[in-house]
Amino acid sequence: MSYKIALICGDGIGPEIVNEARKVLDKVCDVYGHSFTYKNLLLGGASIDVHGVPLTEETIEEAKSSDAVLMGSIGGDAKTSPWYQLEPSKRPEAGLLGIRKALNLFANLRPAYLYQELKDACPLKEERIGDGFDMIIVRELTGGLYFGERKTVEENGVKTAIDTLSYNENEIRRIAIKAFEIAGKRRKKVTSVDKANVLDSSRLWRSVVEDVAKDYPDITLEHMLVDNCAMQLVHNPGQFDVILTENMFGDILSDEASMVTGSIGMLSSASLNETSFGLYEPSHGSAPDIAGKGIANPIATILSAAMLLRYSLNLDKEADAVEKAVQEVLKDGYRTGDIMSEGCTCVGTAQMGDLIAERVK
Ligand code: NAD
Repeated sequence: MSYKIALICGDGIGPEIVNEARKVLDKVCDVYGHSFTYKNLLLGGASIDVHGVPLTEETIEEAKSSDAVLMGSIGGDAKTSPWYQLEPSKRPEAGLLGIRKALNLFANLRPAYLYQELKDACPLKEERIGDGFDMIIVRELTGGLYFGERKTVEENGVKTAIDTLSYNENEIRRIAIKAFEIAGKRRKKVTSVDKANVLDSSRLWRSVVEDVAKDYPDITLEHMLVDNCAMQLVHNPGQFDVILTENMFGDILSDEASMVTGSIGMLSSASLNETSFGLYEPSHGSAPDIAGKGIANPIATILSAAMLLRYSLNLDKEADAVEKAVQEVLKDGYRTGDIMSEGCTCVGTAQMGDLIAERVK
């Protein structure tokens, strides 16, 4: 099959890590007989340098006309980069928020997976880790508290700040459908996280999720209050398969879940819209402190490319092959500096990409 993939290298280590992910995608093409056409697009600081703005119409239109977007990361060092002398709406991060909005990416997926080989990086005790964990957090990304009406008023010399948390049933339904579809490709369990003992928006959330669940009889649904979920993530992370939650809860829980894996260079992410289209990027930033040194860990970006194969191109076998290749490289004892441990072989960005590509079968 032929597919069109937009590549946004971005800033800092972005070009280095995207290059390695592309290497792995090319190997997938060779092994499985597909053809990928790539289009390089500018976003963030790289776009400011050329066009004076972090996001152009051209980038949006080209992204829309592709099957999926693979991105590195954007942004620079806020203390030294001239990009941060610009007003906030012209800075690199505004480009990222802008493209997510323009592409209507309402579902954010963040997997948290513990590789047995990297168990030492996990801050939890052995008995909590058990056989490891493998979960994915499906977070609503375009509604809720961060997008509701907000204002600060002053009465009789006392200031009051108001933020509004609102969800309509359509917004809840579409993200719930995503979570159930994803669970169908995994261990078939959805944990919907809310605060239904207090919030009206959570009570609506719960009733819509229950309604959607009726269409997925083979998937187990459980509800969990957000405070309990925060505890369970460090108490017994192995119990989770797919966690479905609203924007702010997901923001906090997904960072907690990623810290539990202990290695920032390994964490992939995806943002999807109502079709199979998505934008795939590592969870980490552009790491300006190590940019250009050839030492960045490309695995989060390579795993993001695996998610692209699975969720946008529906190539499950190919995605499995990439994930297995990553696992094998770790088993064979190769590490980039950020995940290095005694007895392993330290390799650079490009060599890590080569080693993974070699193992795609
Ligand atoms: P960061 O994630 O870029 O870096 C934090 C630390 O982790 C640094 O020490 C860095 O060297 C290390 N690190 C990150 N990724 C690594 C990798 N793949 N391999 C090895 N080490 C890695 O976070 P930061 O320093 O707070 O932010 C730097 C820039 O990235 C900022 O401009 C920020 O706004 C931006 N940012 C972008 C995104 C995105 O593009 N989605 C996300 C987060 C931060």
